[in-house]
Amino acid sequence: MNKKGIIVVVSGFSGAGKGTLMKELLKKYDNYALSVSATTRAPRPGEVHGEHYFFVSDEEFEKLIAEDGLIEHAGYCGHYYGTPKAFVEEKLNAGKDVILEIEIQGALQIKKKYPNALLLFVTPPSIEELEKRLVGRGTESSEVIHGRMMRAKEEGQGIDEYDNIVINDDLSTCVDEMHGIIQAAHFTPARNAEFIEKIQEQLSQLK
Ligand code: 5GP
Repeated sequence: MNKKGIIVVVSGFSGAGKGTLMKELLKKYDNYALSVSATTRAPRPGEVHGEHYFFVSDEEFEKLIAEDGLIEHAGYCGHYYGTPKAFVEEKLNAGKDVILEIEIQGALQIKKKYPNALLLFVTPPSIEELEKRLVGRGTESSEVIHGRMMRAKEEGQGIDEYDNIVINDDLSTCVDEMHGIIQAAHFTPARNAEFIEKIQEQLSQLK
């Protein structure tokens, strides 16, 4: 069996509960590593450099691109976001499944570059529920909530590009389902090409 980890891309609407989901998944199961992105946006209150993001200047971000230090990057709401390469490769080689919580443009770049990456899309059970959760946070104005709903409308067009959807209804059920999907992905033929080649080679020698 292939002992190398796989890249797991997790995208989803703002308000779908991705952050909480990732936190629970990492708490409950220990074979995952969460990638920390670089971004040019300013930290929000409580966000820590190196933990939530690497907060960098435009110049530093451009330098990262020029040095081939990112495996994907994208613009989102006026800022750059990108995934540092070194961490991902180190953890994959150590056999960890590496989770990238990124938006769709980045997800599609990853799929092209790493065909064996697994792309998951997290959605709430309904659009009414999505709106309820965004309103329930109580931290955003109705204008911002409307903006996020419009963004969700756009992002919804891309769901077909993903391998699996994860419906975030009950948190604990959802964490287990997600873990199940990722574990099952380890057993597809494409992700075990070397092993299959070995078996086929041995078969070819049978007389
Ligand atoms: P936020 O500013 O709310 O933290 O993130 C905005 C969006 O950027 C979210 O959809 C988030 O998943 C996405 N994002 C975060 N890091 C990356 C990254 O490294 N690459 C890409 N392509 N998107 C990212």
